[in-house]
Amino acid sequence: MDGGSDSGDDYDDHSGSCRIALDVDGVLADVMQAWLRMTNPGRLGPLSKSDMTGWDFWSRYGVKKRDFYAQLDACWNEWDSLPPTEPDLARATEGLSRIGAVDIVTARSPATNRHVRMWLKLHNISYRRYVHVAAGHMKADLDYDVFIDDSPVNAEAFLRNGKRVILYTQPWNATVADSPPRLVRVSSLGQAAEAAALMALGSGYHGSQ
Ligand SMILES: [Mg+2]
Repeated sequence: MDGGSDSGDDYDDHSGSCRIALDVDGVLADVMQAWLRMTNPGRLGPLSKSDMTGWDFWSRYGVKKRDFYAQLDACWNEWDSLPPTEPDLARATEGLSRIGAVDIVTARSPATNRHVRMWLKLHNISYRRYVHVAAGHMKADLDYDVFIDDSPVNAEAFLRNGKRVILYTQPWNATVADSPPRLVRVSSLGQAAEAAALMALGSGYHGSQ
């Protein structure tokens, strides 16, 4: 009833299906694993993913913001060895595409788009369109009903704009409270598909199969 977007709805190219925005970094691609692999050798005390509590965890380790994001871009240069977050993304994203119209929606520097697209292809990710924006908060203004994302900052922006959020659990979003039906925390894309199906039903969508 309070479902999804409340302004400017435009259903013309996928009549009535739930519009799902699927993030890449931290949801499909385990970029932080690649970042650890790249930066730990130059560090006195190696970090692990469990040290990454909070969105700005890097600042506690003396890493500058600009350097951190440049390093993430550099991780994408090695796109063909960049690990997925879970084993069978092809199947998981296919399942998700049965629930609604799934677009890849990713915030990044333009130079990395080509590598990200190749990575999506390599892992047989099912999606309809590839949408990129310059900054995470800009996603919240896009016309989607459900956002699958790992960023606690984006999650807040989505909720503020009346969107539904499926938060993909990562150490850096551990403090975000689960608050169904608007924000549901999941630890796999299979769970994300289940949550999306419920959200789609709650918003009066019928699925796309
Ligand atoms: Mg992300």
